[in-house]
Amino acid sequence: MALKLTDLKSDFHNDWCPGCGDFGILSAVQMALAEMNIDPSRMAVVSGIGCSGKTPHFLNTYGVHTLHGRSLPFATGVKLSNPNLEVIACGGDGDGMGIGAGHFVNSGRRNVDMAYIVYDNGVYGLTKGQASPTLKLGMKTKSLPLPNINQGINPLMLALAAGYTFVARGYAYDVRHLKDLIKKAVQHKGFAFLDVLQPCPTYNDILTKEYWQGEGLLDAAGRPMPRTYKLDITGYDGVVKTDDVGEMEEKIKQAMMKSFEFGDRTPIGVFYQNERIPTYEERLGARMPTYRDNPPGEQEIAGQDGRPLATVQKLLDELRVN
Ligand code: SF4
Ligand code: MG
Repeated sequence: MALKLTDLKSDFHNDWCPGCGDFGILSAVQMALAEMNIDPSRMAVVSGIGCSGKTPHFLNTYGVHTLHGRSLPFATGVKLSNPNLEVIACGGDGDGMGIGAGHFVNSGRRNVDMAYIVYDNGVYGLTKGQASPTLKLGMKTKSLPLPNINQGINPLMLALAAGYTFVARGYAYDVRHLKDLIKKAVQHKGFAFLDVLQPCPTYNDILTKEYWQGEGLLDAAGRPMPRTYKLDITGYDGVVKTDDVGEMEEKIKQAMMKSFEFGDRTPIGVFYQNERIPTYEERLGARMPTYRDNPPGEQEIAGQDGRPLATVQKLLDELRVN
């Protein structure tokens, strides 16, 4: 039986500020899960700390609201212990690119088959709008006494350099386009990173809905163009189609160059996708057939008498260096 949107919506009280971009992202996640007809009992959503950390509260799936910057290691553990689950990690730009930056980089190297959605608003919204790692140098939002003194991270560039095999950007108020990107990220074989431009109307009065939907540069005929534009309608193709390393390098370089476009002309869509890199689960299964055939999340952990079936000796025997 097909899932309905209402099956995925929790009745948990939502206390995001009026007009917050988080609402658009949550709607897109719900629509994507309903369209993919993913059984909520086969779905886990893991968040860090921040306004976006509340996302699992508003979804009728399994969910964990975990520690600041720790959504990725937690989600990695969930996925590796039970590879048959669909896993989405989510969090803010402060959570993922600040305290969680080490986990962000090393998750790209592993290529675990899951998705990570970053709600990117340039501020630490939950703690009253301090500059986050993605806020550009010199920007002064209404919550800052002086312009930002640090350079901003380019999250797409960082993801490409770290080895993520799906790198995309969406916009929170283009819910249908974002829903399609979330579906692609979840269906991607490997680790998918999705950065979402998410207006925080309470603390960031620069990167607003009016800004992103307003007019930026002029086209060749002198007409103003919208600030965000969809990559796919320009003929851009970021998908790696062969095992040729040269093709992969060219597609990564192309995506890196595209990632510099930000502000008056900001692309949204899939920058890079490569399903030809083995996932961490595949590498692990090749090394340990017992993991592939009977992952920890599928195992009986206790007998009828409640005594644990796991023995440390069995694990030690498996890992013995001869
Ligand atoms: Fe959204 Fe900003 Fe309010 Fe947080 S502080 S709920 S990010 S508008
Ligand atoms: Mg933020």
